[in-house]
Amino acid sequence: MYKRARLTLTLIYSVIFFSLFWLISLCLYLWFSGSLGQGYITKVKQRHLSLPFAEEFGSQNATIVRIAGNLALEELREIILVLNGGLLLIVPTLGWFLTGRTLAPIEKSYEQQKEFVSDASHEMRTPLSILRGEMEVALKKERAAPYYKGIIESSKEEIDRLAQLIESLLFLARSDHARQPVEFQEIDITDLLNSLLAKFHFKIDRKKLKIEFVPAERIITAYGQASMLVNLFSNLLDNAIKYTPSGGNIWIKVSSKKNFAIVSIKDSGIGIRNEDQGKIFDRFYRLDTSRSKTKGFGLGLSIAKSIVDLHRGKISVASKEGKSSTFTVYLPKQA
Ligand code: ADP
Repeated sequence: MYKRARLTLTLIYSVIFFSLFWLISLCLYLWFSGSLGQGYITKVKQRHLSLPFAEEFGSQNATIVRIAGNLALEELREIILVLNGGLLLIVPTLGWFLTGRTLAPIEKSYEQQKEFVSDASHEMRTPLSILRGEMEVALKKERAAPYYKGIIESSKEEIDRLAQLIESLLFLARSDHARQPVEFQEIDITDLLNSLLAKFHFKIDRKKLKIEFVPAERIITAYGQASMLVNLFSNLLDNAIKYTPSGGNIWIKVSSKKNFAIVSIKDSGIGIRNEDQGKIFDRFYRLDTSRSKTKGFGLGLSIAKSIVDLHRGKISVASKEGKSSTFTVYLPKQA
């Protein structure tokens, strides 16, 4: 599809360019040939007579002028033909190159969309086939009530997973098309993180993780939408918990620099290889080490990045494989 569009565009551009150039050349030629003849001879005659010591301008001179005019016209014709012939080669080549450059970002975004749709469908298929499998088994024969309860519970889990996936996809789609409005207000970052930590209490205790929270000495506010910032830091904290082995550490630090509130979340977890650090913010990207061991869609960090972008902030990662990972978020303090 891309190649055909590129070829069509090159053809259209070449035809437009050639038609224009031929038209200009034709006008130039006609104009030039029209100004030759008697009027031209009169002009040359007037110039000639204005020269000091000019002798009489006879019919012989007029013939010479006529011949010179015809020669110049022939030369112009040749120049036009050579130029247009050369352009016949240059224009399509240049057109092919330029349309390639113009279409490259469109092709990239088209490929990304295709990949996104295929990844999303793949992720949706998994919970759906689990649901169908469980129900088919349950329907095969009469069973006791606790069995059905178990099926309903695990079905609900899968439905929750599906709902979460759809929510995430919707959020990303809206952010992509700038249809995700942000209701900005001043938010106390320390307060927000404290209440978030309370929500993660159970997960933290279950893995016996040690949390060290270093709030700033004074109140630091960020300018943003509370629900989105909760979503952003939930994703980062959830990852820190997920990817840190039991008994590990998580450090959370709030600070500020110039016009930015800074939050860094560091863990003593499995870390991320250097070559993967640039890719983890891509949609559906999961490291092989995570795929087999933890549940997730690979959307948490792309949502975090979208939220940071909507707030005109920045997010970065620094990590040592097998040792630690630090995610740092910069959020503007004011509008
Ligand atoms: P998910 O956690 O659902 O897989 P994310 O988008 O949140 O998706 O993260 C993408 C990938 O980045 C994860 O699969 C994991 O491999 C890696 N990752 C994210 N956070 C951390 C972390 N704190 N420590 C190690 N790896 C991480």
